[in-house]
Amino acid sequence: MIYDLELIKVGKVYDNGTTAVADFDLMVRKGEFIAFLGPSGCGKTTTLRMIAGFESISRGDMMIRGVRVNDTPPERRPTAMIFQNYALFPHMTVRRNVGYGLEVKGMAKRERDEKVARMLATLDLEDIADKRPDRLSGGQRQRIALARGLVTEPDILLLDEPLGALDANLRKAIQNELKLLQRNLGVTFVFVTHAQSEALALSDRIVVMNKGRVEQISPPHQLYTRPNTPFVANFIGRNTIVDGVVRAVNGEVASVETALGLLSGALNGTLAPGANARVVIPAEAIEVVADGPGQAAAVGARSDGNVVTATVQRSDVVGHISHLSVTLPGGRPLALEAHVDKYPPGAFLPRNPVLLAWQAAEATVIPAA
Ligand code: ADP
Repeated sequence: MIYDLELIKVGKVYDNGTTAVADFDLMVRKGEFIAFLGPSGCGKTTTLRMIAGFESISRGDMMIRGVRVNDTPPERRPTAMIFQNYALFPHMTVRRNVGYGLEVKGMAKRERDEKVARMLATLDLEDIADKRPDRLSGGQRQRIALARGLVTEPDILLLDEPLGALDANLRKAIQNELKLLQRNLGVTFVFVTHAQSEALALSDRIVVMNKGRVEQISPPHQLYTRPNTPFVANFIGRNTIVDGVVRAVNGEVASVETALGLLSGALNGTLAPGANARVVIPAEAIEVVADGPGQAAAVGARSDGNVVTATVQRSDVVGHISHLSVTLPGGRPLALEAHVDKYPPGAFLPRNPVLLAWQAAEATVIPAA
């Protein structure tokens, strides 16, 4: 199989000695929507710029459609890049902005006009084609930038924080547009973001990066439900992470001795009894039950023995969401929320004991480091 994009042990060391990216491995299929997600400085932009050819590659190999492009200049790569600030020419009309790349390439006017007209129609920009971008809204400017990138018919469209310049309401609307557009065109998209919600909403797979290294590459749902590393468990979703020592491994389930008792979860990675491990429990997986006589045994029986007694601190209802703050044994706080139907107002009173329970399959056991 020929991939649209392959990064094989790609690394980047800047001239000042900074290692920005190390050992980056990634295979991208045609038409995939890939996000690079991670905190500021983790190497997302550097990697995107190496794919575009704006940064040289210090180590490893980069292939596009099976061809090694390490030494290919940006204009000869089948890529286009959308910059965060869009970098539109303010004095040119929308039409001319969109056609500029083709003009520079020396494409004949007739062919160029046809391609531009088609792209303006695809992105619903016909009505404003003869306006100047500085008179237009953020959402419209974003679409012009997309049109300008896509009109060159790249194999891979690279997007640097594509929604970063938009306000929150517009972001949501443009997210949907972007996803639909990408599906319809079938072009491979690789985008950089530090916004988890954006990556989760748009991507087929997310590459989580930390300090220049890839932590995990997975579909969004899997990052949530099966984090591979402590960094991912902390960074994605709302997880409670409990340290302990593996006591037993039974098929796909590991039991871990922790300060909260013996807890179990789906084993992710290779861990033998005696190894240091972390149990990662997603907030969404936790069932809360008021404590009472015989309750712990009853709840434990249906939650693979994963029951922890906690103490209610506060319980508030905001709109149709109940917020519950509890304290775990040892004093650690935990915030939970659910629809009011699940935690009705008054069900959990401050200072009362509650039982927190979850199925083993919904928690994940990972190596401690
Ligand atoms: P991100 O996009 O995830 O915020 P970057 O790729 O911009 O991260 O940066 C990764 C690391 O490389 C950071 O430590 C940053 O300071 C460093 N860096 C980025 N550009 C340069 C440069 N031109 N010269 C030296 N170091 C750089």
